[in-house]
This record gives sequence, C-alpha cells and structure tokens, in this order.
Amino acid sequence: MRDRCARNITYLRLSVTDLCSLRCRYCMPEEGILKRDHGDICSVEELVEIAQAAVVCGVRKVRLTGGEPLVRRGILDICRGIAAIPEVEELCLTTNGLALPQLAAPLRAAGVSRLNISLDTLRPDRYAYITRVGRLEEAFRGLKAAAEAGFTGTKLNVVLMKGFNDDEIPDFLELSCRYPVEVRFIELMPIGEGRNAQFLPAEAVLESNPCLRPLEGSGVARRYRSPGGRGTVGLIEPMSHRFCAACDRIRVTADGKLKPCLHSNQEIPLRGLHGAALRQALQAGIAAKPERHHMNETGRSEAGRNMHQIGG
Ligand code: SAM
Ligand code: SF4
Repeated sequence: MRDRCARNITYLRLSVTDLCSLRCRYCMPEEGILKRDHGDICSVEELVEIAQAAVVCGVRKVRLTGGEPLVRRGILDICRGIAAIPEVEELCLTTNGLALPQLAAPLRAAGVSRLNISLDTLRPDRYAYITRVGRLEEAFRGLKAAAEAGFTGTKLNVVLMKGFNDDEIPDFLELSCRYPVEVRFIELMPIGEGRNAQFLPAEAVLESNPCLRPLEGSGVARRYRSPGGRGTVGLIEPMSHRFCAACDRIRVTADGKLKPCLHSNQEIPLRGLHGAALRQALQAGIAAKPERHHMNETGRSEAGRNMHQIGG
C-alpha cells in the first residue's frame, strides 16, 4: 500500500519484547526496565495476526526485533507462524547474537531467512563497557553459530560512536574483507539514551578509506566493497543523509502500537483489533506516515520511547 507521499510500504519491523540480555549504553537505561506482566505484550498469536494483516496491506518483508528477540519465550513459534504466511518473502531477525549458539539452527528450521547481528566493537574491554554486562567471546560464539547453522547474507550492525569505536573502522573493514558478511556502520540517533553518546558521521568511513568501491545501494544503505573483499560495507545514515523519501517501513512495538515513523510519537493501538478492524488500523497508520523526521533541525528524536522499546 502507498502512503500519502506515494511511498510503497512493504516492510514491517515487529518488536517481540522490550527486554534484553544486554544494557547497551546508547539504548537502555542502566537499571534495565521493569518486566511487564505477561498480558501487557502481544501474545504469539497476536503477533502472527498482525503480520497476517500487514501482508494484506502490502508488506512482504518482516523483521523481528526487540529488545532482544531471542529472550522472548515462544520466539520459534512466532518465527514459524510468520514464515508460514505465503506472502512473506523474507523473514529477518536482528539480534545481539548471545543466544545464537542455542538458537541459530532452530531459527533457520523455523523459517528465518537472514540475521543482522549487532557488534559495536571487536575489543573485549570495550564490549564489556558498552553493553555493561556482555562478554565479547559470547557474541563471537553467536556469529560462529550463525555461520555453522547455514545462515548467509548476515549483516553486522555497528553503531558508530566518536571516541569509542572510530579507531576500529579499519578492523571492521578487515572483517568485511575476510568474511562474506556486510558490515553496516550505523549513525547514532538521538533517541532516549542515545543522546548521551557522541555522534560520528558515517562519511568518516569513506574519508579514511578512499579505496572502498561503491556498489548498488540496497534499501536505506549506501554500499561498498574493499578491493578483493569477500564481504561488503554498508553505511546507514539517518542523520547525514535523511532517507525518509525512500522509507518503506512501519513498526509495531511489543505492546502492540503501530509506529508509522520511528521518530514520531504517533502510535496507533492495535491490540484487541481483529480482521477488517485490524487491517483498517494498519491502513490508517500507513496513510498517516509522516513525510520525514526533524532530528537534523531539533537534534532529538520525537520517538517518545527508548530504542529497546521500539526495535531500531
Ligand atoms: N537487541 C537486538 C540488537 O541489538 O541487535 C535488536 C534490537 S536493537 C534496538 C536494534 C538495533 O538498533 C541494534 O543494531 C542497535 O545497535 C541499534 N540501536 C539502538 N539504539 C540506537 C541508537 N540510539 N542509534 C542508532 N542505532 C541504535
Ligand atoms: Fe539490547 Fe539491542 Fe538495545 Fe543492546 S542495542 S541494549 S542488545 S536491545
């Protein structure tokens, strides 16, 4: 379905929990969040029903996110339910990777086509610092498990932070040369806790590596390859190159609120709606999708939630 700016909305980002096994400083408050009552977040059946209604509205790609989707009880049932919808061409999942040693193979069997794994640093001390509670070796074990389970086209999400990981750009590029992965450098967005970290424009990757060769872009990413590299490099630049004109996505939070734009506080409650009423609510949300965000002018997102409560 097209929105009022004639953008074709084909991509649903569906958050399955706002809980997480990590406490990344730019995403979650240190104390974590209060566990909600079971009934406060969408059930497995509700999530599948939302995805079913979304495909009727034209969605063809679904990404499960969170919080950390792999801590959600019933995650494999959610995957199986959505993968079984014939119109869903791609079911992806964004994860911190920690639970992949146990879950990579079952996720593939449940119909997940591709993974994005978040990894902001390759240094153990920095990983412990940025995630507050994580151990880098566990994240590496997750990466290995994904490859062993047969996942291909895996993307590594790296949020760029000045003074934290800018000196690791060469190491991440080296990784994209050695392995068939796409390293995606993501610009930090001033959402919630994200306002406390230091922004670095993704252009810095190109400035320090003029040998990167441009490839055809995909979705919201500019893409490159190092000469002879097995993998690729992507730049996601929500701040420097606002890509709102090409935005093809809607989001649904774990508590069942449709967010037509990540950076708007507009939310449309979906819980309790079924059949035609659910489809109409989704259509109304798509129709009301804002033309663009205003973070560049205001320096802050109007999202009204932290990132772990939306899903990125
Ligand atoms: N827990 C999973 C993970 O970390 O991959 C999925 C949820 S997480 C919210 C999704 C993505 O959003 C991650 O790649 C994370 O690094 C990114 N993210 C979180 N806060 C951000 C911010 N303020 N700016 C840019 N990206 C952010
Ligand atoms: Fe958890 Fe992902 Fe947020 Fe880190 S970025 S705290 S792993 S939801």
